[in-house]
Amino acid sequence: MEIVSKFFAFLENNLFLKNGTCPICGKVLFITDHYLCSGCEEELPWINGPTCEGCGRLVFVTNRPRCKACAIGNFPFTGGYAWLHYHHSGKALVHAIKFKNRPNLGIWAGTQMGRELAKIPWVKEIDFIMPVPLHQSRLEDRGYNQSEKIARGIVKGLAESFTESHNKLPLLKLQTLRRSRNTPHQVGQGREERLTNLLGAFSAEYLEEFQGKTILVVDDVLTTGATLAEVATTLLEAGAKEVYIATVCAVAE
Ligand SMILES: [Zn+2]
Ligand SMILES: [Zn+2]
Repeated sequence: MEIVSKFFAFLENNLFLKNGTCPICGKVLFITDHYLCSGCEEELPWINGPTCEGCGRLVFVTNRPRCKACAIGNFPFTGGYAWLHYHHSGKALVHAIKFKNRPNLGIWAGTQMGRELAKIPWVKEIDFIMPVPLHQSRLEDRGYNQSEKIARGIVKGLAESFTESHNKLPLLKLQTLRRSRNTPHQVGQGREERLTNLLGAFSAEYLEEFQGKTILVVDDVLTTGATLAEVATTLLEAGAKEVYIATVCAVAE
């Protein structure tokens, strides 16, 4: 009995991650797995073109470079990248990062994204990487901002990929925009009214820092794009040169 329990203790300590289960299929994770089981990791729904050059989501018409939202000017992004489709295991992954207390899974996903982003030419222009801020009450409930974890992972992935090529590494900007209250819906407001609202909602402490800078805004998912567009508009109106976006998942147009 003693030997059996020792054997199981050995297995538990050496083969499996402590209390680790795959957030997608629920299987117990081996020590060789990262944050997903190898089966789920291999089957993640990666977005393989054609994608919108403005926001990174899948577009269905190959000869059209931008999705409708980007084409009609609803999205103020210069460019974008999305890693996974927002369905099946892509959706489960984002859900786990946001709601199942798996901040390290966010860092892991961001690191994978950073390695892919390193291959994209516009990434070399990025000065700052900024996660979409989380409303204070949500931050208190969740204990972390998932977008911040993803952004940290992106910096890590870029750092790994940039070592050889001597590209400048973007700086992670965390505290400049703080979401201090829920923003009212932006539709139907004039520019002045909207700006006042945005600057009030995101109490920007060091707006001068953004003058002439190129910023990559990070979020977990691109659905309507309203929040990302709101942050990008604020940064552009504060004097940023260009705003790009990166999301773990994006819905197709
Ligand atoms: Zn799995
Ligand atoms: Zn687009």
